[in-house]
Amino acid sequence: MGSWEENIRRVVPYVPGEQPSDTNIIKLNTNENPYGPSPRVKAISMDMDFLKKYPDPRAGLLVDKLAAYHGLEPSQVFVGVGSDDVIAMSFMTFFNSGKPVLFPDITYSFYDVWADMLRIPYEKKPLNDDFRIVKEDYMNNDNGGIIFPNPNAPTGILVGVDFIEDIVRANTDSVVIIDEAYIDFGGESALPLINKYENLLITRTFSKSRSMAGLRIGYAMGSAKLIKYLNDVKYSFNSYTMNTPSIILGSEVIDDEEYFRNCLAKIIDTRDWFTEKLTELGFMVLPSKSNFVFAAPKSISAEELFMKARDNGIFFRYFKSPRIDRFLRITIGTREEMEKVVNFLVSVL
Ligand code: PMP
Repeated sequence: MGSWEENIRRVVPYVPGEQPSDTNIIKLNTNENPYGPSPRVKAISMDMDFLKKYPDPRAGLLVDKLAAYHGLEPSQVFVGVGSDDVIAMSFMTFFNSGKPVLFPDITYSFYDVWADMLRIPYEKKPLNDDFRIVKEDYMNNDNGGIIFPNPNAPTGILVGVDFIEDIVRANTDSVVIIDEAYIDFGGESALPLINKYENLLITRTFSKSRSMAGLRIGYAMGSAKLIKYLNDVKYSFNSYTMNTPSIILGSEVIDDEEYFRNCLAKIIDTRDWFTEKLTELGFMVLPSKSNFVFAAPKSISAEELFMKARDNGIFFRYFKSPRIDRFLRITIGTREEMEKVVNFLVSVL
């Protein structure tokens, strides 16, 4: 027997929320958007013959559309297979100093997985007792990079653009990534800052606000310099990350601003209504600007409630981790779904 197994890249993979095949369940565990993509995608007919050709490696149609939508140059936009792909690529490209990358102790749990996988050192900075990011922890300009979501996940708590600008301005020697996966649900984007600071990268996704998680589209926006470095790494890894249907369907929905805004308004409205109901039921609910709420029940453990809901065909997300094991993360579904959830909670509590 050889010793080949000593040379394996050993990793502890990220565990995504369950994707059960049963369509009858109320699925509130992975922050999908219940309304579905713009009806424009259903109206598109594709001549599948195009599949014989490789996709455009630049994904130009989509990049150009996104640039115009956000008032940017195409050289400031990078697209990838979900923001997971975009962020993983960014870790590889920007976090190479050997110094620790900084992110919160309670945040998107993929960050430490990518860092471990890529052998990037990191330091987790604890949120304060109110589950807020402590700005002073990110002001030393002596780190390998900074990343956090805004609003943060799974707390849903938003910070202001000034907060982000202070951090970016203070860290001229590293790249700061703001993961805006949930920014469309009521937050103010830090996007205008990319024209002022070369070291700021903003990432976005079509999986949440645009209800297209199944297509896998994410993108990043930043200075042309940052985007060039990101593309150099991408083209050294896989020229054709984005498939042609994603490029076509993704660029189609950008034109349907009205549908987009309508869905967002419904989700925001339902979130605020549901937060009130949870509070009435004795939950401690963090103030969310996202399409989910992070809530701690009072008279029952979060884990027990998670199991009971699951037995009743309602899927929440539960993290058995320090500091947050008394919370449930509940995605905002349709108003009808959330009414059913409230009825269930009333019957259990
Ligand atoms: N960032 C955050 C904070 C998320 O919660 C998610 C969703 N799991 C992602 C990025 C990645 O989303 P996607 O790859 O679907 O774009």
